[in-house]
Amino acid sequence: MLSCPSLRPRPAQALKNRLLLSPTSSIRARSSPIVATPLLQGRGIATATPSTILPRQSTLALRSSSSVASRLSALTRHFSSSSSAADANNMAPTEVKQYDYIVIGGGSGGSGSGRRAAGWYGAKTLIVESGRSGGTCVNVGCVPKKMTWNFASINETLHVAKHYGYDVSENVDKNYRHFKEIRDSTIKRLNGIYERNWGREGIDLVHGRAGFVEPKTIEVTLEDGSKARYSAPHILIAVGGRPSIPDIKGAEHGITSDGFFEIEELPPKIAVVGAGYIAVELAGVMGAVGCETHMFIRGETFLRKFDPMIQNTMTERYEASGIHIHKKHPGLKEVQLIRDGKGKDKLLKLISNDGSEMEVNELLWAVGRLPEVEDLNLDVPGVKLNKSGHIEVDEYQNTSVDGVYALGDVTGHAELTPVAIAAGRQLGNRLFGPDEVRDSKLSYDNIPTVVFSHPEVGTVGLTEPEARERYGDDQIKIYHTRFTAMYYDVMPAEEKKKNPTEFKLVCAGPEEKVVGLHILGLGVGEMLQGFGVAVKMGATKKDFDSCVAIHPTSAEELVTLRPSVPPEEALTRSDRVSIGWPIRVPSGACRQCSGPVLEAEAVDKTREARIGLHMNSVPPAPPLFSSPPTPMNVPGGSRKRKRMSKLSHQLKALINAPAARPNTVPAPSNIQSIYRKIQQGAQSQNLSQSSWLALSTATTMTMNSPESLTELYQLASTSQSAKESLATAEFMREVGLKCISFNGIPRTINCLNAFKASLPESISSQLSQTPTRTPNPENIQEICTRGQNLWDSIYRPFEKKLYNKLADSHPDLPVHILNANYGALLSDPKRTTGASVGRLATSVVAIACLRAQTGVGPQVTSHVFGLRKAVEDGTWVADVEEEEGAKWLASDEGNTWIIRSVDSIVESIGEGLGSNFAPARSAKI
Ligand SMILES: Cc1cc2nc3c(=O)[nH]c(=O)nc-3n(C[C@H](O)[C@H](O)[C@H](O)COP(=O)(O)OP(=O)(O)OC[C@H]3O[C@@H](n4cnc5c(N)ncnc54)[C@H](O)[C@@H]3O)c2cc1C
Repeated sequence: MLSCPSLRPRPAQALKNRLLLSPTSSIRARSSPIVATPLLQGRGIATATPSTILPRQSTLALRSSSSVASRLSALTRHFSSSSSAADANNMAPTEVKQYDYIVIGGGSGGSGSGRRAAGWYGAKTLIVESGRSGGTCVNVGCVPKKMTWNFASINETLHVAKHYGYDVSENVDKNYRHFKEIRDSTIKRLNGIYERNWGREGIDLVHGRAGFVEPKTIEVTLEDGSKARYSAPHILIAVGGRPSIPDIKGAEHGITSDGFFEIEELPPKIAVVGAGYIAVELAGVMGAVGCETHMFIRGETFLRKFDPMIQNTMTERYEASGIHIHKKHPGLKEVQLIRDGKGKDKLLKLISNDGSEMEVNELLWAVGRLPEVEDLNLDVPGVKLNKSGHIEVDEYQNTSVDGVYALGDVTGHAELTPVAIAAGRQLGNRLFGPDEVRDSKLSYDNIPTVVFSHPEVGTVGLTEPEARERYGDDQIKIYHTRFTAMYYDVMPAEEKKKNPTEFKLVCAGPEEKVVGLHILGLGVGEMLQGFGVAVKMGATKKDFDSCVAIHPTSAEELVTLRPSVPPEEALTRSDRVSIGWPIRVPSGACRQCSGPVLEAEAVDKTREARIGLHMNSVPPAPPLFSSPPTPMNVPGGSRKRKRMSKLSHQLKALINAPAARPNTVPAPSNIQSIYRKIQQGAQSQNLSQSSWLALSTATTMTMNSPESLTELYQLASTSQSAKESLATAEFMREVGLKCISFNGIPRTINCLNAFKASLPESISSQLSQTPTRTPNPENIQEICTRGQNLWDSIYRPFEKKLYNKLADSHPDLPVHILNANYGALLSDPKRTTGASVGRLATSVVAIACLRAQTGVGPQVTSHVFGLRKAVEDGTWVADVEEEEGAKWLASDEGNTWIIRSVDSIVESIGEGLGSNFAPARSAKI
């Protein structure tokens, strides 16, 4: 990377209005009294030359006149300096002014530290600043960035407004130049506020570039080229960093984040190189204001230091919003300036290492930042740098040299404004404060941070992989949810899809301490601070859950993520929300022993504790015709069980990545009312419960939402006797089982397990334990015949043709379908226990599953016919439906009702994104 020192603006005109300020301050430096250093004494330290210190009021105008004019000069805001030690010796001023505390750099950290030292403890303090007061944050960082984010967010709001009924044109005129002027004036005001605060607290300010000439003496190259020297027993280096640009031909034709804030006309097409938060924020702004934005990243995702959930969802979100992400990009090898100018007038050609080319109106380098150490002559005091070129410090911000400190971006630790400020204040406390704060230092753990992307991202603590690494897999439990914020409810499904909200809690140990919290979505930037306090205080999941939710907000999801279990009495979801009972069905590791569990949980109601349903606690399958192999009768098996090989963290993280959607789907808030509407529709046609309940159960199983099944059961069993409730539960289980034919085994396992676990003890304990489908030599023929009859009833007059067609694909395909599905599963076995679904409802199950899956239209059609055939051929007569209901169900109107009812459940559980059965990755829940 080039640091581009030659691109720095030249010093401004000669200083005017120089005045001497004569701060007299108490000298209370903790370790070295100001006049006591042998170095200073030996040289006969004198007072400062009057011309070296600026009147605070005059500095603003001065720096304005030196502001960056050209695009190139925007690459850095610092003055060029020739203050090498050798030069300094040639032109060395004789007088050296003495201070208690010298702060090099008037940015976040320097200002924070200087103000604490001078304002609180009266230390005689000097700030040396070579650029604009306030540093990166105020001038080319947080402040202009957030204002520009606001500008872009308004454009997004306008887009949403039309869905709320506002008559807003798609292309509202945006006057970016006007906005920039407003932003610049805000920054100027802040520059003034910084300087006034310093003045109020008795801090002297010198504008110029500082470098060491003695271990405790600096020389400042002033803006007119003259030099002045200052000395102090305590010198803080808080010089921050600057953007780097790659070392390729024509790189200087692009801009960095500094230059981004010089843009006056929006470029119609912009390329952003980089995958860090600055790249993501600035690309997001450009995308949101309607510029064609291209991001070039080396990997598959950006924000690589963040939790995988954030990386994946945000990368997908940016793509969905129209930002072109060039993943695994080989890098640019050359940039050619085709036309110079502003906005659309500027034209660049980007040539990649693979030879591909692209023309853009602007190129933004956001490929990292470098510490601003070159001009400091750090070798003079002997301050050590680490491998990345940052100043090496200990936890107290001490450098390798006694009395020289460093903090903020120049140290490379958590490069954020509040971190620099806090570290600066703690250092001020430690050096100049009373004994109680003698050991002050900043804790760098659990620093919350927000990325002002679109939508925002918030994060505090460890990522999931970091937590697994630190605590071990078996100590980590993850809570995760993804939903669409209410704000976007008014938008069509496609638009909603582009605006996900997603939360993840990473918890460690048996007490489930929250060690990581990762959130993205509308408003999370304002949401994080409070949760940051909780995490910093060591909150556990239980503490989160004990906080009453604020409703209706997105944030409430964070305190209802995995709540405890409802009481025996069935409660609706809204009941549970209003009294604070939990609504989520968890998955992952067991809370008791952290062992792997199925995605559902068993419930120990006596202790009101949730216990994971262990893989090895699933009841063993009844034997078919012989005993299943055990280690003893498996060839080569032995009594001693071999230890299972472990999966790597990375593999586990990959398997459980949010994009892979490893978990079941929570119940949406409106699911009860959807079911109720279906129930009412059925009742208005004199249908029995079996039809609407089969439809709703099968659709919900297909949508993988066991929690919704619980809601469904509660609705269906309202006002039922205990016996009827038991029959309802048996019926739903039976429908669930039949879903295997359409949805496969895993979803069915998860849903049936969770369903049983959610039932009141009085019901679940009475559910039948006797299998009814165990094949044996006596009943095998009957099973096959049952299957054939059902097959014939559904497909007649094409039953043979279809059979042959399937056999043509694979000779065992119809054999398996007929015997294992139609015979063993879909046709009701003769039995004395359990519920029979019946012929009509079985067809309804088929239609519901297939419709909810999507992508299998021909099969939906076949089963609609299959339903009609049941009425035509009379095979329905053993069902619970009355003739009137059966005929209506088989009519056009009845068929339409079935399909529309299925769609309404899919819409609700899928949060408007459609089926989740096998969606594209971008359409994840
Ligand atoms: C585009 C962008 C967006 C950002 N957004 C956020 C955000 O949203 N939130 C957040 O917390 N952080 C954000 N940051 C980071 C934040 O700005 C920095 O972490 C913070 O400003 C660091 O403070 P500092 O005191 O270490 O250095 P700085 O604030 O950079 O201050 C260093 C000062 O030292 C001066 N200086 C340098 N060398 C010398 C010298 N030899 N002599 C005299 N003076 C010198 C410089 O002119 C500068 O004013 C952002 C940064 C960028 C670039």
